[in-house]
Amino acid sequence: MGEKISQLRNIKRILIANRGEIAVRAIRSIRELGGESIAIYSEGDKNSIHKDLADFSICVGGANPKESYLNIPSILSAVEVSLADAVYPGYGFLAENPTFVALCERSNITFIGPSSKTLEIVGDKAKAREAAIRANVPVIPGSPPVKDLDDAIKIARKIGYPLLIKASAGGGGRGMRIVNNEKELIKLLPIAEREAEGNFGDPTVYLEKYIKNPKHIEIQILADKYGNVIHLGERECSIQRRHQKIIEEAPSPFLTDDIREEMGKVAVRFAKEVDFVGAGTVEFIVDENKNFYFIEMNGRIQVEHPITEVITGVDIVSWQLRIADGQPLTIKQEDIKQKFHAIEFRINSEDPESFVPNVGKIEKLYIPGGFGVRVDTHIYQGYVIPAYYDSLLAKLIVFGKDREEAIRRGRRALKELVIEGVKTLKDFHLKLLEDEEFLNGSYTTNLVDKKYLKET
Ligand code: ADP
Ligand code: ADP
Ligand code: MG
Repeated sequence: MGEKISQLRNIKRILIANRGEIAVRAIRSIRELGGESIAIYSEGDKNSIHKDLADFSICVGGANPKESYLNIPSILSAVEVSLADAVYPGYGFLAENPTFVALCERSNITFIGPSSKTLEIVGDKAKAREAAIRANVPVIPGSPPVKDLDDAIKIARKIGYPLLIKASAGGGGRGMRIVNNEKELIKLLPIAEREAEGNFGDPTVYLEKYIKNPKHIEIQILADKYGNVIHLGERECSIQRRHQKIIEEAPSPFLTDDIREEMGKVAVRFAKEVDFVGAGTVEFIVDENKNFYFIEMNGRIQVEHPITEVITGVDIVSWQLRIADGQPLTIKQEDIKQKFHAIEFRINSEDPESFVPNVGKIEKLYIPGGFGVRVDTHIYQGYVIPAYYDSLLAKLIVFGKDREEAIRRGRRALKELVIEGVKTLKDFHLKLLEDEEFLNGSYTTNLVDKKYLKET
């Protein structure tokens, strides 16, 4: 019934400015809504499945991301020749790049995400922090952008050590340095600024008190173009190595209903402060007394969005498309219920003890299934992993009626998973599912680095 009629009114042909599993994820929602998908790919991604799954595909340049997935002129040309009317950014690459978004706006191309004005703020951690302060959202004791070393020393004396030097433009766990005393600050500040300039093209850094043993808990936001903003509850992402998430779960075993509700309200308030439109996530650090502090907003889809989708029944990527199409949110805050418990395991091509990435050919692959199991991936048997991109091969998502069932299902599904030819995190995840702190829910962001990381 009605399968030929598109559910999209204003955007019809959508170019996906990304690769890997998130490109596949986007193609699925675009097709279900009746839109057309255009994949872009690099010379290093000629064997990538996203290119075959899309309705059309265009090569945009060399394997190095700078020549392809970050190559703005080449991507805009692809939009033009393919007659696409919208761009889906995914995560990473150009997803939070206000320059790219402003160019789309000027050319009348719908960017499926917030405005360039919003991204000028949320894509910059120091500016986002200032917006949080304006909106009366609790932040970690810290500083505005550091002017010079004297300024930094003065502020650091006020905040107290240990603290973090953070790159305003940082992301993906990169651009952060722990500083334990003034001597280290003097030594590390210029290095941090140089690194920020080299890695993110912006030397701006700021200081933030380093919270010991915190939890990372974030709130998923959906906002339409008419000022309706709701949240879909939280995800706990405290299982991290080197400040990057590897297991996420929802709901968080640590939150009480009161704090959950309070965090949701605060996140919505922040989103309204920055005129947020689309799907985004407000990230918080939560200390052992359950005080929560804003750290940043990701103005884009997040890797771990499926755990929220499976416990609430809300298709977040479809809503990104509908919102960009100009449709109003039809879900109300009171409709959102966390009906199940879900866990996501990032299956990265990394050594399960050192977390060092490796590449190779997928010689054998068996993907688990059954009740309560979802796998989002772009890999297939025979696929050769290119060396240029991040190590995420697949996301294994399990859900059950409660946390215990989700954990049991996680063990079962991980044991079924077969990936031969490259080392993956599978065995690490199985170990973690026997860890006492994970099982009782008390784990914090330091667990993996403290207990499981073997330096090479
Ligand atoms: P990114 O943009 O790289 O995601 P975030 O600011 O979100 O940067 O921080 C990533 C991770 O680093 C957090 O999840 C947390 O583990 C750690 N972190 C960030 N800020 C602090 C802080 N002030 N104190 C302790 N840990 C922090
Ligand atoms: P999430 O917040 O969705 O969990 P991650 O921090 O794991 O996302 O990052 C997802 C991907 O996006 C990674 O490949 C990461 O390197 C990339 N990424 C995230 N933020 C940035 C940024 N500011 N600059 C460059 N790459 C980024
Ligand atoms: Mg973050």
